[in-house]
Amino acid sequence: MKRIEIVGGGLAGLSLGIALRNAGVSVTLFEAGNYPRHRVCGEFINGLAPSTIHALGIEDAFRDAVLNRDVAWVRAGRALRHQRLRSPALGLSRYELDQRLAELFVARGGELQTDHRVGDTEGEISGRVLALGRRRARTTWIGLKLHALDFPLLRDLEVHLGERAYVGATRVENGRVNLCGFFQRRSLGGRGAQIFIGYLRAAGLDDLADRLRDAEIDETSFCAVAALQCDRAAVATPELRLGDACAMIPPFTGNGMAMAFQSAECALGPLVAFAHGNLSWSVARQTVQRALRRRFRVRLAVAQILHPFLLQRGMQATLSLLNRAQLVPLTPLHRVLH
Ligand SMILES: Cc1cc2nc3c(=O)[nH]c(=O)nc-3n(C[C@H](O)[C@H](O)[C@H](O)COP(=O)(O)OP(=O)(O)OC[C@H]3O[C@@H](n4cnc5c(N)ncnc54)[C@H](O)[C@@H]3O)c2cc1C
Repeated sequence: MKRIEIVGGGLAGLSLGIALRNAGVSVTLFEAGNYPRHRVCGEFINGLAPSTIHALGIEDAFRDAVLNRDVAWVRAGRALRHQRLRSPALGLSRYELDQRLAELFVARGGELQTDHRVGDTEGEISGRVLALGRRRARTTWIGLKLHALDFPLLRDLEVHLGERAYVGATRVENGRVNLCGFFQRRSLGGRGAQIFIGYLRAAGLDDLADRLRDAEIDETSFCAVAALQCDRAAVATPELRLGDACAMIPPFTGNGMAMAFQSAECALGPLVAFAHGNLSWSVARQTVQRALRRRFRVRLAVAQILHPFLLQRGMQATLSLLNRAQLVPLTPLHRVLH
């Protein structure tokens, strides 16, 4: 049987590794970092069906995930809209989730090499899957996140729209609240939570900044990423790319993690067939790439169109007006986006 090599031990890479091991395939996974660790992420897992969790065999990782269903959309400190999701999103920190998946992968007999960054990832290599996370780009968008320990919420998830920024605050395990923002980069001083609060104030989100200032914060959870770009699917590549390495959907959808798992689900069958010698590598790769395109094309396109409405003051005002006139069809949009 042929071995599969996975580069990148985030959600796409680890869940694929676990599923392949469950199917008896030999897997080596290289991860540049280590576990556990905090990651910049809203930690709001929206649109992940139980069937995908089951197909990947990762039920155990979600054992104490919080069920989050009610969303408050807030602009300039004023409630804009309340949304009740058709099915609950899962609230679980990346600190726990990635660590649990890594443990599951090893427990299933996967070979995990941490602190191992693979240098050259360009070009087709038979049996190699790239799950490297987002592609870097020259942009001025950054992401910040931290956990607050006593932070009462208006709803299960609050989404605050600010000036060239939006911030989500949601419940995760152990009574924690994760705050995560997508911001235009600014030159602000400070460290950890001070930086986050500075960004909130610069975006005009003073209410949220005041609440955070008064909360108990886990400073070790603060993290940041720069050069964010939300892009269309990069499926027509000589490499097989999954998760954010294939396409990054704008974070407001809360769907990037579900897409990482779904992309692993799409890849599973063809990769098992390759490992057993029933498909050549190039046929397996192209089969997966076609499945990814079919599954994600529409939601990526719609999310790209909507993203500016959350970030720009003029477009937010239009959104407010449309919303007041009951012209924002949240339920159909949610269906298309997940
Ligand atoms: C600000 C922000 C908020 C977000 N909020 C949400 C949200 O609320 N809900 C949601 O569903 N999604 C959200 N997302 C998106 C979500 O975080 C990603 O879609 C998800 O992490 C993608 O998983 P992945 O496995 O593709 O990549 P990652 O989880 O990024 O994993 C990639 C891994 O590859 C490793 N790696 C990279 N290069 C190499 C190399 N050369 N060799 C070895 N290892 C390598 C990295 O160390 C990393 O561990 C958010 C994203 C941002 C930026």
